Amino acid sequence: MQQFLDAMPEVSGNSVNGLGESKLRRATPFFWHPPKIQTHGELQKLVTDHQHKSKEISKHFSPTPPGGRGPDPVEQAVSKKSASAAEWVRRIKTFALENEADIVGIARMDPMFVYEEYELNDPWVIVIGVAMDHDELAQAPPSFENPTAAVVVAKEYNRAARACRKLTNHILEQGYYAKAWQGPYASALNMIPAAIAAGLGELGKHGSIINRELGSRFRMSAVTTDMPLLSDVPDEFGIDDYCTRCQACSNACPPDAIFDEKQLVRGVSKWYVDFDKCIPYFGETLGCAICIIKCPWSRPGAGEKILSRLQKRASMHDVNQE
Ligand code: SF4
Ligand code: SF4
Repeated sequence: MQQFLDAMPEVSGNSVNGLGESKLRRATPFFWHPPKIQTHGELQKLVTDHQHKSKEISKHFSPTPPGGRGPDPVEQAVSKKSASAAEWVRRIKTFALENEADIVGIARMDPMFVYEEYELNDPWVIVIGVAMDHDELAQAPPSFENPTAAVVVAKEYNRAARACRKLTNHILEQGYYAKAWQGPYASALNMIPAAIAAGLGELGKHGSIINRELGSRFRMSAVTTDMPLLSDVPDEFGIDDYCTRCQACSNACPPDAIFDEKQLVRGVSKWYVDFDKCIPYFGETLGCAICIIKCPWSRPGAGEKILSRLQKRASMHDVNQE
């Protein structure tokens, strides 16, 4: 762990992220961005080099992993095929779900989805989620002896990449512009706010999205396009309230990095993870993932049961109020 603590730059990651700032602003390029344009590039290199010491993890994070990262972009067709926005939404979602995506949503582009120092004016963003196997992720934290939980993360980043690249090509073939965005490295598109706007879920206390079916057990990719589409709406199903009472992730986090109360971050009150506390443990354990697997919503089938319990409690509360 000491090597990661020693590599922490003078500037706190929390300051870069805007912790405590009251003014609304876009996010600054950070940890997963190209090392040269951000403050924590050396630390990123140390963390990823450490992961690549595991042959099993390295194989899946290589440029040519098992199963591949998907096709190269095709030429955009010269003429645009015509359909209503509602019909394009139906076709695009069907295509995505038949081509490796497990969940998909659409949001109108918002400048707040774009990192500072980047420009991105495509009118629509389609966000894709792919599930990670619960039992594999439950072996977190990964280690050199048992890297399973890191391997499933890498494998599903690759599936998410394939899903968005196939969808991109499908849209290009219909005559519209499209561009694929895949992780784990970042560039212009800040995927979490886009995914929330696209109805994929709500932000949880552990700083990841919680989807009503998959919990936090999924990875994301996206496609931006000028195809005429319609926006989904944010899916609000009570996570804010649930996280206020639940402490499963914050109690399980070894370096105690998860704040139990919302924090002011770039002008918005939101759940936030202390980057400076998380990252040395994340680095040492080849990717940690404890908080996302300890989240009760991440258990297969749990979302439906929790929602039904919450609804029963709400109706009992209503009866008691009468
Ligand atoms: S990834 Fe690990 S160290 Fe970081 S917040 Fe989650 S549980 Fe804590
Ligand atoms: S473990 Fe509990 S507090 Fe943490 S994100 Fe999940 S529901 Fe919220």
